[in-house]
Amino acid sequence: MPATWPTDAPPAFHVMAKPSGAICNLDCTYCFFLSKELLYPGDRFRMADEMLEAYIRQTIESHRGPEVVLAFQGGEPTLMGVDFFERAVAYAQSCTRPNQTVQFTIQTNGVLLNERWAQFFRDNHFLVGLSVDGPADMHDAYRLDKQGRGTFDRVREAANLLRRYEVDVNVLCTVNAANADFPLEVYRFFRDELGIRFMQFIPIVERATAVTLSIANRGWGEGNTKRPLYRNEGTHVTERSVRPEQWGHFMSRIFDEWVRRDVGDVYVMQFEYALASWAGEEPALCLFKETCGTALALEHNGDLYSCDHYVDPEHKLGNIATSHMVDLVASPQQVAFGRAKKETLPPQCLRCDVRFACHGECPRNRFVRTKEGDEGLNYLCEGYYAFFHHIDREMKIMAQLLRSGRPVPDIAAIVRAHDEERFRGVGRNDVCPCGSGVKFKSCHGRPAT
Ligand code: SF4
Ligand code: SF4
Repeated sequence: MPATWPTDAPPAFHVMAKPSGAICNLDCTYCFFLSKELLYPGDRFRMADEMLEAYIRQTIESHRGPEVVLAFQGGEPTLMGVDFFERAVAYAQSCTRPNQTVQFTIQTNGVLLNERWAQFFRDNHFLVGLSVDGPADMHDAYRLDKQGRGTFDRVREAANLLRRYEVDVNVLCTVNAANADFPLEVYRFFRDELGIRFMQFIPIVERATAVTLSIANRGWGEGNTKRPLYRNEGTHVTERSVRPEQWGHFMSRIFDEWVRRDVGDVYVMQFEYALASWAGEEPALCLFKETCGTALALEHNGDLYSCDHYVDPEHKLGNIATSHMVDLVASPQQVAFGRAKKETLPPQCLRCDVRFACHGECPRNRFVRTKEGDEGLNYLCEGYYAFFHHIDREMKIMAQLLRSGRPVPDIAAIVRAHDEERFRGVGRNDVCPCGSGVKFKSCHGRPAT
């Protein structure tokens, strides 16, 4: 424990541990995290038990509040084996204070999961993030193994296994060039075929410079021997990246379906956080907060970085073997990192009427110029602006339902009544008045499934 508690220490924060570093058993083409192994040449990328204990003990010690999250990500954390996580659980139990509860989370590609893993996750109430990009053709576009084969069948098996064992699963779906034009196919696949109740969508934005673009387009796996260490540099994006307007359209179409039939049954991360913003609360996710700096990344050897998206030498805060985690989290470097999210917004964001929900999203994506020529606008701005305006009316109603103590799922009946009014007299083959650009029969005139 530090001799003096740092004054800038937040009461709670999130440290994502990467016990196998950036090492993964897959070679997903868009995964620039794979290139981070270049930071530690010749390393074995295995977190030692002493480091695991330091991570757990210091995270628990650093939290003033009752809830502590211990998070494992990669690379692929299941490469460490179940025994490693059994030791983690046992150690956490030995140092949790009586007023604290610990929630374990793990993000996995699912390929190594078997009955033993599923049993272990269930017994220890792990929240399992499973990476799936949609139905087979979309998932297999970029989520490949080391031999270049698709991984859909293996991931689907993992999803079924976890479901059988009643493990809490949160699907993490990247939105990229292969699936961005098929929002409802993706959403319905998760909801209806995999039976998923928690999902989040992550836009793929792979930055590159004019020099690195052609190399980056070949992907970030081991097969690309020329890949550089990924940094948030350059104003180009790879051909796999989602386009801003595609991103807005993707989220808006899913929202339209969700708000009419799934509120209360299906949890989509972006919608939950948006509702928090409309209700006047701070969303739980760094992307949509005014400032950040409380979501850090811990490498296998104890190096602590400002954020998982800034694992590079400039953003290394120190090592938890020699400095207590809370001192690093509260360090001037990290506090400045978190404040920069707010302080570097361009004038367009400062004037924006949906800034309360967007806050310029993540600084890693702020690399385009505004119409006035100011630097630092988010590449996805057009999409976010369209999405937040698209959901405004329903969000206001849901926030009002919350305030008046009524069930939020009541929104479905309200929206359907409004639809009847709005779409009265529209022909099946007319263009839908909602602005989607597609025929009414394929859009709001489609029968509910
Ligand atoms: S929608 Fe665009 S202008 Fe508005 S806050 Fe977000 S990034 Fe800035
Ligand atoms: S840099 Fe982006 S991902 Fe990292 S903590 Fe800030 S908002 Fe979150």
